[in-house]
Amino acid sequence: MRTAKVEANERIRATQEELGIDNGNRLPFLCECDDAACRTIIRVTAAEYAQARSSGWYVVATGHSGAPRVVSDGDGYAVVEG
Ligand SMILES: [Zn+2]
Repeated sequence: MRTAKVEANERIRATQEELGIDNGNRLPFLCECDDAACRTIIRVTAAEYAQARSSGWYVVATGHSGAPRVVSDGDGYAVVEG
């Protein structure tokens, strides 16, 4: 389930904050595509991740978005709606 990967990313983000490494570096998160078996690691900044999360968007590896609307494209990842 995508939900499980989002929950895992929330734990990753909390850990990054605890470690104080969420200072603009691109950090590893799990691809949040619909494929439950996907374990692709993408690298985005904590700020980019937080913005996507608070907007109800998902961060996915390039090419994993399926057909939803792409909000923005990054280096190796995309932010998508739904
Ligand atoms: Zn994926």
